[in-house]
Amino acid sequence: MKELSSFLAQQRQDHLYRHRRVVDGPQSVEIKVDGKEYVSFCSNDYLGLASHPQLVKAMQQGAERYGVGSGASHLITGHSHAHHALEQELAEFTGRQRALLFSTGYMANLGTVAALLDRHDSVFEDKLNHASLIDAGRLSDARLLRYAHADIGSLSSQLDSSDASTKLIVTDGVFSMDGDLAPLPELVKVSQQHNAMLMVDDAHGLGVIGKHGGGSPEHFGLDSDQVPILVGTLGKAFGTFGAFVAGSDDLIETLIQKARSYIYTTALPPAVAEATRAALQLVKTESWRREHLTRLIERFRNGAAQQGLALMPSSTPIQPLVVGEAEQAMAVSNALLDKGFLITAIRPPTVPDGSARLRITLSAAHSEDHVDRLLEALAAVTRDVCTHEPLREFSQ
Ligand SMILES: *Cc1c(COP(=O)(O)O)cnc(C)c1O
Repeated sequence: MKELSSFLAQQRQDHLYRHRRVVDGPQSVEIKVDGKEYVSFCSNDYLGLASHPQLVKAMQQGAERYGVGSGASHLITGHSHAHHALEQELAEFTGRQRALLFSTGYMANLGTVAALLDRHDSVFEDKLNHASLIDAGRLSDARLLRYAHADIGSLSSQLDSSDASTKLIVTDGVFSMDGDLAPLPELVKVSQQHNAMLMVDDAHGLGVIGKHGGGSPEHFGLDSDQVPILVGTLGKAFGTFGAFVAGSDDLIETLIQKARSYIYTTALPPAVAEATRAALQLVKTESWRREHLTRLIERFRNGAAQQGLALMPSSTPIQPLVVGEAEQAMAVSNALLDKGFLITAIRPPTVPDGSARLRITLSAAHSEDHVDRLLEALAAVTRDVCTHEPLREFSQ
């Protein structure tokens, strides 16, 4: 085990060591961590639904009706009425023929890419795609090509020189560590010109952006012919757990036959599906959550601009502040912790070298006062910790 301890020592030395904080009590913007209270600005609970009483109640009732474990995979005896109803409701919500539940977004991505492609095919991925999409490309039999972030020219030239039988373009809808939107209308055009399929993982868009929470396809006004493969996760804006793929009847039937991460795994607990059905109702009916969130984003960006803080260009609840080196990102994060704010530093390899950052996320559960207090704390911390003010120098 000597190699392991030297690896761990090196991680520490490089300020890349990761450790887990222990959370007590419900997921919320006011959160108890390692016994202390903080205001959290780093969860993906964008709509503040993770501990909503209606979700809790739906889960309790689901457990009473179905028990706790699903007992088997979907193809054996694990596919309950709760799963089935949720799939139908998600299909309707996304305007697709069908939807298929997976246990996690990671598994949805692995299963979908591998099911659709074989060794004669190629998958084209944005360089900043989520790790699960990159892994999906790597683990499939297809050839993986990565194009420069949001760069249609880079993608087009890769497509031009490809002789793959089937081509699949894969992108995050909202980039998870940067908060920017994929150029979906251009990607649709390129996919049609090259007869390539387009898959959009909208883990951070669905429920959050678009007037009705329809995510980046709704934001850009794109339909199911234009974005034929749509992935959503349920552990973020929906506040629960799990994921789904939405698309045509043929797509969903193919995944049921072939997606190994669908077939060879236990169905998620039906009570979780019941809680998600309750979440979907709130996503659809309580548009004030999105409206409040939009106002908070504006307030935060305006306040940061007044301080000269160089936020990344993002209109979503993901508002990263790039610091640069991992060590300094940790220092800023720790200084904020001392002031009562929980914002984890995101370091390589999650983000490229030299772009360690605070991934600040806003939630509909935040108040304007929370945002104002965060801005005050950021002003103090960037003044104290960053003597040469790299935060203010950073430009894209
Ligand atoms: C979080 C995330 C996933 C993984 O979803 P889980 O359900 O947490 O496994 C997939 N894709 C993107 C873009 C994500 O941000």
